[in-house]
Amino acid sequence: MDKKTVLITGASSGFGEACARWYAVRGFSLILSARRRDRLERLAEELGVPVHIMQLDVRDRKAVEKALDGIPEDFSSVDILVNNAGLALGLLPAHEADMDDWEVMVDTNIKGLLYMTRKILPGMTARRRGHIVNMGSVAGSWPYPGGNAYGATKAFVEQFSRNLRCDVQGTGVRVTNIAPGMAETEFSLVRFKGASEKASATYDGVKALTAADIADIVGWVTLQPEHVNINHLEVMPTQQA
Ligand code: NDP
Repeated sequence: MDKKTVLITGASSGFGEACARWYAVRGFSLILSARRRDRLERLAEELGVPVHIMQLDVRDRKAVEKALDGIPEDFSSVDILVNNAGLALGLLPAHEADMDDWEVMVDTNIKGLLYMTRKILPGMTARRRGHIVNMGSVAGSWPYPGGNAYGATKAFVEQFSRNLRCDVQGTGVRVTNIAPGMAETEFSLVRFKGASEKASATYDGVKALTAADIADIVGWVTLQPEHVNINHLEVMPTQQA
């Protein structure tokens, strides 16, 4: 694939930021989105490739549509969409869970991903090329205590990816679901709402994946020859049961 444009959601930290660095080293133009503009601006300054920043909340459908309509001409043909923005909150047993947490996870991990995909996809099908990489999780197929709503949002991402791939058959567009296990990012800090001791205890006894590990995988998947589609890729720390 020629070097073109990659749109990465959730690019202000973790996997998204690492993906931005991965593609920048290889000369891609980048559209970086998240809510924290300062983080995106700092990252853009380091990257040394053309970057368009979209500060937005993926839960806000109108904001997503407006931002995507406003992409400058130079960046307007998105070749790769990395639907990565997402989070877990609480992860308490279902009978103790906070309904607001469930709603935020559904709105971000499911609806945000749908808003982005629906708006970007027609350009890809019209150009008869493109790649959508959705960030699922092993939580989408492996039950664990407290994984209830979060795991279900990631099961949605996995099945949506399969169905999407059916819909775009014959258009040249590729679709991949990546399902990582435990990775050390800001994910746990967000899950525990800033309680840093609890967050770092998540990784006790396990050498977790790094954001760079996931970026290597996302990048590798998208640089396969255009006739090769990696449908689903699950990756876990060696020590994670
Ligand atoms: P981080 O918390 O480091 O990154 C999450 C990113 O998502 C941030 O850039 C954040 O940006 C963005 N984001 C969250 N909510 C919104 C929103 N409403 N609108 C726009 N952007 C948003 O975590 P990771 O990098 O680990 O997570 C990335 C993805 O990987 C998520 O989908 C997560 O579910 C998934 N995942 C993570 C695993 C892990 O162990 N770390 C394992 C499996 C999957 P900002 O706050 O600036 O908006």
